[in-house]
Amino acid sequence: MRFAERREAILDRIALHAHGKAELIAVSKMVEAKRLLEALQAGHHVFAENYVQEAKAKWPALRARYPDLRLHLIGHLQSNKAEDAVALFDRIDTLDRPKLAATLAGAMRKLNKTIPLLIEVNIGREPQKHGCMPEDVAALLQLARGDYGLKVEGLMCIPPAAQDPKPFFTACAALARQHQLATLSMGMSADYVPALQAGASEIRIGSALFGARPA
Ligand SMILES: *Cc1c(COP(=O)(O)O)cnc(C)c1O
Repeated sequence: MRFAERREAILDRIALHAHGKAELIAVSKMVEAKRLLEALQAGHHVFAENYVQEAKAKWPALRARYPDLRLHLIGHLQSNKAEDAVALFDRIDTLDRPKLAATLAGAMRKLNKTIPLLIEVNIGREPQKHGCMPEDVAALLQLARGDYGLKVEGLMCIPPAAQDPKPFFTACAALARQHQLATLSMGMSADYVPALQAGASEIRIGSALFGARPA
């Protein structure tokens, strides 16, 4: 199946489970430029990448042809790549610690470019995963907005693998509501329907749009 058909099928599900109100973000890690062009030509304009270096190699040339495309960073961000990330992306979804808030604020000042952020929440409290613990979201939000003047628009989460994702989506949605955050990025190829049902405002879809990634 081609990108356009896969996209239509997912948009149908968004219509069914979220009244068409959630945004479809195409996760394009390990997808080559030729296939990104196919996606852009099919009318899709919002993408997400996991790695700063990979995005830097793929996207500037595509942006020159499609100036209205939007690119989000959804992978862990090391402080030493913050400046590159601010230069390259339209939103960073992985703010997860106070030091990164400080570094991003400095990078935005230096580049004279302001981009919005999401806080990545470690909603399953998994020790091996990145993300802010749920109970630390309030403090990080306060610090990012109050101390650094950053524009935090919402939350992003990935529930633990091999467990029912529903309670984690519900918990993340409650956290977003509690902090009056409008953007809630949750749900991937395998679990986007329950994410939509729990109130995701956007879903991040890779393999269901582009096919399986090479292992
Ligand atoms: C890879 C990735 C996705 C997309 O995963 P699929 O299962 O291919 O849809 C979504 N979010 C994050 C953070 C990812 O790393």
